[in-house]
Amino acid sequence: MEMLTIKRVPTVLSNYQEDAAEPRGCGRNCLGKCCLPVSKLPLYVFKSAAELPDSPSGATEKPLADFFLNSLLLGQWEDRMSKGLFRYDVTTCETKVIPGEQGFIAQLNEGRHLKKRPTEFRIDRVLQPFDPAKFNFTKVGQEEVLFRFEAGGGNKAHFFESAPVDGATSPTVVAINVSPIEYGHVLLIPRLLDCLPQRIDAESFLLAFHMAAEAGNPYFRLGYNSLGAFATINHLHFQAYYLSLPFPVEKAPTEKIPMAKGLANSGLKVSLLMNYPVRGLVYEGGNTLKDLADVVANSCICLQENNIPFNVLISDSGRRIFLFPQCYAEKQALGEVSQEILDTQVNPAVWEISGHIVLKRKKDYEEASEDYAWSLLAEVSLSEERFQEVKAYIFEAIGLVEAEVEDADVNENKRTSHQSTPVDTTHFPEGCLVQQ
Ligand SMILES: [Zn+2]
Repeated sequence: MEMLTIKRVPTVLSNYQEDAAEPRGCGRNCLGKCCLPVSKLPLYVFKSAAELPDSPSGATEKPLADFFLNSLLLGQWEDRMSKGLFRYDVTTCETKVIPGEQGFIAQLNEGRHLKKRPTEFRIDRVLQPFDPAKFNFTKVGQEEVLFRFEAGGGNKAHFFESAPVDGATSPTVVAINVSPIEYGHVLLIPRLLDCLPQRIDAESFLLAFHMAAEAGNPYFRLGYNSLGAFATINHLHFQAYYLSLPFPVEKAPTEKIPMAKGLANSGLKVSLLMNYPVRGLVYEGGNTLKDLADVVANSCICLQENNIPFNVLISDSGRRIFLFPQCYAEKQALGEVSQEILDTQVNPAVWEISGHIVLKRKKDYEEASEDYAWSLLAEVSLSEERFQEVKAYIFEAIGLVEAEVEDADVNENKRTSHQSTPVDTTHFPEGCLVQQ
């Protein structure tokens, strides 16, 4: 239906012209204000007239999906691997499915924690201002960028092998994660030069949905970690990678929440995740990609404004979203996480919560059991009572009213107290910095 068009644009008229020009940027070919505006990176322009993607059985998205995911994203990722830009070779890491009902996936990755950039900010605040002095993506070299990713008009995608940056816009880029946890592990960095902190806004969140839709493959997922929920860089970014296994969370049963108000005619559905160690909400449907993205973005905005750390998994090409408010770092700081779990040094971010657990020690990998995975993730989850409370804040923020209320009195009280006092999940003393 929608074929991809590939356009080549003349970039330099002659080599002489390029050589004779003033040296471009700071000379490091970085992603800062010195070099990015004068760069000529490849550009993928996605179709912005976006309906929710067709089901995978309808093969109409095929040509596009093949190009975007296979030729461009994974092809360029492999090119960077061959150039030695990664800190270790993730393709040699052992992976196994842990025996059991859930099918947790374990990976042994002994290189990651040794070579990872240290976390440089407090973990008890979900929203923190961007700090140009700390590590951020403007400091990265352009060789780590696979392509720019921008919205176009209409319903056709375009690719330009080399495109000048329009001075008026801050480029959104897809770059490699130099400490990958899987094949094709990349970062989507919205409006990079705007130096946005790690904070969800509707416009950036929609970009992540578009990337999932363009990839059009259920094994290519995007994820988001807030500060306090194991984001390690306070510069707005989403992660994504390709892993051809279903995630346990994607197989878990869900229970639709009946709504009295708020979702009429939207085609949207909100469900509770059932029989899974981490309590979460599942968002599906909607008439357009934007409908779904907006309702999840507004849920995230509610959480971050209430200082509740959270993780998001964008699954099924942007058709199914999992939202997990979490409290692991808080429990860890309060000394409430069992030593056995702490000893494995796993930071339960979005991938771990989804059931893909990256282990740092061979012993833990060999001994990994469903019981271990379950008890690790159970530490991440809010308690049932707290989850209900947080769900109520979210629904109030996005204008949803549940159809059936089991205990009207309790809910009424919660709503009243929420309005009078802002929620604060943190019990750390001011200035407390927890080293991860
Ligand atoms: Zn530069």
